[in-house]
Amino acid sequence: MKQHTLLKDIEHILYSEEAIAEAVDKIAKQITEDYRGKSPVFICILKGASVFFTDLIRKVDLPLSIDFMAISSYGSSTKTSGVVRILKDLDESVEGKDVIIVEDIIDTGLTLSYIKNTLIQRKVNSISIAALLDKPERRKTELEIDYKGLVIPNEFVVGYGLDYDEKYRNLSSIGVLKPSIYMDE
Ligand code: 5GP
Repeated sequence: MKQHTLLKDIEHILYSEEAIAEAVDKIAKQITEDYRGKSPVFICILKGASVFFTDLIRKVDLPLSIDFMAISSYGSSTKTSGVVRILKDLDESVEGKDVIIVEDIIDTGLTLSYIKNTLIQRKVNSISIAALLDKPERRKTELEIDYKGLVIPNEFVVGYGLDYDEKYRNLSSIGVLKPSIYMDE
């Protein structure tokens, strides 16, 4: 297959398409086992988690349902303040439901802590977090990640749903951008 044109902006690849698929498979199997007999609601945190989300739900063998939430954190795209604004709320009530929040990456953990607390207040039956990427070096709050895919160093990554300035979401691998891409701004 022809190489993606956007790869020219990538300095190095951290995880290939195959490595990501393996990690998603592992999470899906674990969730399928843990939620046997239940019908969990998978919540996609837009937009970054969208690619992971669609791959993950198709590998989970459960009568699940899906919903979407869009949030914006105040501050620049590379810094999180922890204050989160809900741009699009869930369509359905989650009261009494077993909820799985699906997120692309946990960085400081502040965004997810906020979302988790918001959903707990809505009287869910249970709540867990599935995150494809974990950047533990940057954590600012204690947050349990129930289903974790891949660990990454303290670098800004793009691809597989993750963007820089709304671009690179459609790369199948995850990588670090060349510094020249930032410096051109
Ligand atoms: P946290 O509140 O955990 O610091 O922030 C999580 C959010 O910050 C993610 O959902 C993502 O939107 C963004 N983020 C954190 N690290 C990265 C990164 O390396 N690359 C990209 N594209 N976004 C990131």
